[in-house]
Amino acid sequence: MLDDGSIAVDKYLKTNVENVYAGGDIAYAPVFGSNDISAAIGHFSLAHYHGKIAALNICAKSTPLNTIPFFWTTLFGKSYRYTGYGKPEKIKIYGSLENLEFFAYYIKGGKVIAMSSVGADPIVADFANFQHEGKSLTEAEVNTNPFGWIRNKPKNFEERFQNESIVNP
Ligand SMILES: Cc1cc2nc3c(=O)[nH]c(=O)nc-3n(C[C@H](O)[C@H](O)[C@H](O)COP(=O)(O)OP(=O)(O)OC[C@H]3O[C@@H](n4cnc5c(N)ncnc54)[C@H](O)[C@@H]3O)c2cc1C
Repeated sequence: MLDDGSIAVDKYLKTNVENVYAGGDIAYAPVFGSNDISAAIGHFSLAHYHGKIAALNICAKSTPLNTIPFFWTTLFGKSYRYTGYGKPEKIKIYGSLENLEFFAYYIKGGKVIAMSSVGADPIVADFANFQHEGKSLTEAEVNTNPFGWIRNKPKNFEERFQNESIVNP
């Protein structure tokens, strides 16, 4: 067990104790799509997926983790999405934080490592699929055209998400 109470596992959710597997919030597991950096991520859908992968591996159907972390929640009638992983150096926001209608790129080392959105479906789901296919998006590509890579564009996206702002966390 690590200092924060999580348990290190490999990409098959195996611990260092024979025949013991860990998944969900407690698992410090390699994050697919983020260079297999290990992290303990507290998302409902990831815990659900870990349960399936651990069960397959326990049954000797060797299956590595290969999902992109995806968080969603609803607060006061607004739905929030987040996908990816990592500590950004810069966040580029398109749309309006005040009106809770935006999408954001989380950027590190010139690369988009994660995205979030409110009122901009299905952009974040699109990005999770994009990462799952092994593709990556650079800051330079975002600067050239922030909408260029998006496959399923939300309604009136060019008007609704024109406003650009940058946060340096
Ligand atoms: C307030 C709150 C809101 C959240 N909202 C969201 C959200 O909107 N979207 C989202 O994706 N995620 C959300 N999460 C996170 C999500 O709930 C967790 O990521 C998910 O439940 C983790 O599942 P798990 O099975 O790993 O752990 P848990 O759901 O915590 O299950 C662990 C179980 O083990 C039991 N247990 C503990 N110790 C023992 C023991 N010694 N013996 C036997 N049983 C034991 C516990 O009682 C518990 O039932 C939220 C979490 C909280 C606390």
